[in-house]
Amino acid sequence: MAGSGVFSEIIDGEVFKYYADGEWLTSSSGKSVSIVNPTTRKTHYKVQACTQEEVNKAMEIAKAAQKSWARTPLWKRAELLHKAAAILKEHKAPIAEALIKEIAKPAKDAVTEVVRSGDLISYCAEEGVRILGQGAFLVSDSFPGNDRTKYCLTSKIPLGVILAIPPFNYPVNLAVSKIGPALIAGNSLVLKPPTQGAVACLHMVHCFHLAGFPKGLISCITGKGSEIGDFLTMHPGVNCISFTGGDTGIAISKKAGMIPLQMELGGKDACIVLEDADLDLVAANIVKGGFSYSGQRCTAVKVVLVMESVADAVVEKVNSKVAKLTVGPPEDDCDITPVVSESSANFIEGLVMDAKQKGATFCQEYKREGNLIWPLLLDHVRPDMRIAWEEPFGPVVPVIRIASAEEGIHHCNASNFGLQGCVFTKDINKAMLISDAMESGTVQINSAPARGPDHFPFQGIKDSGIGSQGITNSINMMTKVKSTVINLPSPSYTMG
Ligand code: NAP
Repeated sequence: MAGSGVFSEIIDGEVFKYYADGEWLTSSSGKSVSIVNPTTRKTHYKVQACTQEEVNKAMEIAKAAQKSWARTPLWKRAELLHKAAAILKEHKAPIAEALIKEIAKPAKDAVTEVVRSGDLISYCAEEGVRILGQGAFLVSDSFPGNDRTKYCLTSKIPLGVILAIPPFNYPVNLAVSKIGPALIAGNSLVLKPPTQGAVACLHMVHCFHLAGFPKGLISCITGKGSEIGDFLTMHPGVNCISFTGGDTGIAISKKAGMIPLQMELGGKDACIVLEDADLDLVAANIVKGGFSYSGQRCTAVKVVLVMESVADAVVEKVNSKVAKLTVGPPEDDCDITPVVSESSANFIEGLVMDAKQKGATFCQEYKREGNLIWPLLLDHVRPDMRIAWEEPFGPVVPVIRIASAEEGIHHCNASNFGLQGCVFTKDINKAMLISDAMESGTVQINSAPARGPDHFPFQGIKDSGIGSQGITNSINMMTKVKSTVINLPSPSYTMG
């Protein structure tokens, strides 16, 4: 159970503690933040509302801890990460329970998220040992006008203190996708978990504590983003921000100082379906891609652009699969569970009502109970409807019928977002041409968009983000190149 067994020290009465300087602490604010269970809509957990002084302290300690961590041999850093990964996987049950209660993640998916996170940490350790164990050696006579009098040695050095801010939908996985690369590269880390998902994150951080990481290297500061977010992101002690979330990231980019930023933001992933596509495969992927975790995934299929000639068949096949989706509480491992908050459910409803007013075809009856929204496919969606452009982050998938592939590409490229997209066709040449023409960070051919496997590059363009994640890219992003140049008194040529 969450907050019990090895996790009993992370809770004080009914409020979970925050983590700094290698200890579990109660905030001097005397205030807590409530975490509302999306299913019951009642407060389920409470976490500390940390103060600015506590943030200052964590930053100060992180800076000092990073210096000695950077002097810790790479193999030892890797060893500790492997240990944390094993502890995390061993304690998957209470962490998964927190995911069920805080963010209504279906039971099986909650366990999968924790296990995948353990694997991610181990992979960071292995990849880090390889890529950080290598540098470059350059000689000066390859550039015109130079003799071979200079040898340049480059290596990768840590940035310092990384501020990690993950979103609610994968709080554990998207936290470790920042923590693993940051630590193996010799950085320290301050984590600000999402409010919904904070308790799962605190448990995950305790696994790093149990693994024996040095004091102060990792801190976990809880509190509402709207209250402590600006103070954290504009803090002079931060050397890099790795953020995943919505438009908040755009605001952070404008406020942050001259530091590297990794921003993974929203998406409106388009699914283009051509006439020659395998329609059963298409339907299976629209349902999986659009409705998994009730559509609350950055890479969910968020608009289907289907050729008119096959649209009726695709809609029919999708509808028959939608009818089989189970709807209910996450504890029962239902396919569709309540969305994260009432405000999120209201937002989704706003998009649905706008589409209704403007004449979209409802393939199912719109149904909502509290935060639970039944899966809904909207056909004959037109570009004047909000759902054609906005990210519902809920179990609602719009279908736009197109007359040509170009029309689909045009709709995809007219979006402010550019995270992922997908195209279904049996013609690989067409698929490649469409992929090249789509303005998105990744295009999947004959499968729904997906983040992962976690070592694949993952990036958005336009409002979908800055930089590229994926284990290797994140490790590189959280380092800087350092050169040392050896200047020789006279040109020297190997064997010459
Ligand atoms: P969000 O509202 O942007 O919140 C993300 C994180 O930012 C949370 O930890 C939040 O804390 C924090 N935050 C809020 N205000 C802040 C501020 N002023 N300064 C610093 N941090 C602040 O996003 P969300 O609702 O959790 O997640 C959904 C969004 O994430 C969707 O748009 C989805 O597409 C996107 N997403 C993108 C990816 C990707 O890889 N591209 C992956 C997953 C999700 P609180 O919870 O305390 O407010």
